[in-house]
Amino acid sequence: MVKYTLQEEQMLEDLRRLLKIKSVNGECGEVTAQAPLGRGVYDAIEYMLSLGRKFGFRTKNVDGYCGWIEMGEGDRMAAVVGHLDTVAADSGWNFEPFDGTISDGRLYGRGASDDKGPSLVALYAMKALADSKVPLGKRIRLILGGDEEAGGWRCMQRYKQTEELPQCAFTPDSEYPVTYAEKAILHIRIAKKLESGVMPIFLEGGNTINVVPAAAKAVVNGVEYTETGKAAHAMEPQKGVNAVLKLCEKLRGQGVTHPFLELAEMANPEGLSIAFSDQMSGELTINPSIARVSETEASLSCDLRIPVTIEKDTVLNAIEAAVRPLGFEVSVLHYLPPLFVDPRSALVTTLQKVYRECTGRDTPPAAIGGGTYARAFDNAVAFGALFEDEEVSYHKPNEFWSLDSIRKNFQIMANAIAVL
Ligand SMILES: [Zn+2]
Repeated sequence: MVKYTLQEEQMLEDLRRLLKIKSVNGECGEVTAQAPLGRGVYDAIEYMLSLGRKFGFRTKNVDGYCGWIEMGEGDRMAAVVGHLDTVAADSGWNFEPFDGTISDGRLYGRGASDDKGPSLVALYAMKALADSKVPLGKRIRLILGGDEEAGGWRCMQRYKQTEELPQCAFTPDSEYPVTYAEKAILHIRIAKKLESGVMPIFLEGGNTINVVPAAAKAVVNGVEYTETGKAAHAMEPQKGVNAVLKLCEKLRGQGVTHPFLELAEMANPEGLSIAFSDQMSGELTINPSIARVSETEASLSCDLRIPVTIEKDTVLNAIEAAVRPLGFEVSVLHYLPPLFVDPRSALVTTLQKVYRECTGRDTPPAAIGGGTYARAFDNAVAFGALFEDEEVSYHKPNEFWSLDSIRKNFQIMANAIAVL
């Protein structure tokens, strides 16, 4: 392992500036031809590119969808892929979410660890390599997308239309060690029109499909019910508490009957007969995310993470068969195929070696339920930026990145891009 010099103060100052740019996916200001993903995303991309130019690197803003920063010379190009959009910062924060407060050895802010922080650390790792003057024999390109969080990935689609594809890539938008397999992601909406014979109830919970809903409310016969839960990333719904499911259980306990309450009761792997798993990527998960019940319609949108060897249609057919007796229909909102890179490939073994040398840990490559940019390119994996024993704070209130983790990540990323 080579130890590189980190200009920590300057880097943290730049990172705080980046966190101050509000680049919430889908709600960050005016959408224009120049800024198709909103002004905030555009400003965040431009800010990063300006840093890249300051460091003497080549840069390009790809029509406001993404940007890239490149150093080195040669035919071969290895990429680090990050994103500059964030999820929203709802209630529950003890710090100003768009400021970058440092407290108790942690940098707090929306995007601190997902994924503005790792993106900027990657840029500083490139700078450290450039400053070290070691010949690289290749180009390193930092690709910065602006449309990751909602799953639309218009940034990567746009990139692939005109820009050069990397020979290999990693994305520091997940956890260490190397993630070589990611479950498929399926977003569905299960809905039913309600006839006049059904007792009207009003129910609402959740706003974001890849987050466990932390609040839900209902009105039944003029009585209001509310329930709170705990938000978590939809890829690990067991780490949260689903307020919608809790509320439905409460209503059923009160003797309320409604097709939606029956649907909610079966919205789990066993209830829908989709309890699939494989050795490579683990168990199927389902997160009932967004519930809307009015007098005329009931709907439940869900985020599913499907093991890599299980076919999407197998899952869809099972769900359809399970909900049809209740009169519900299933529509697909979004599908992202699984990721699989051979764990014996040069990319995986090289990153694994770097990780071992930098941390002393020999954790084997892993498979997760997250959906990272690694799926956007061939021969790409997720690598970092959270360590196995670290608290996961992305998508939650008080998102942070510890300064200790930032320092370690800087060394790992610099060593990784040097040898890729
Ligand atoms: Zn992310």
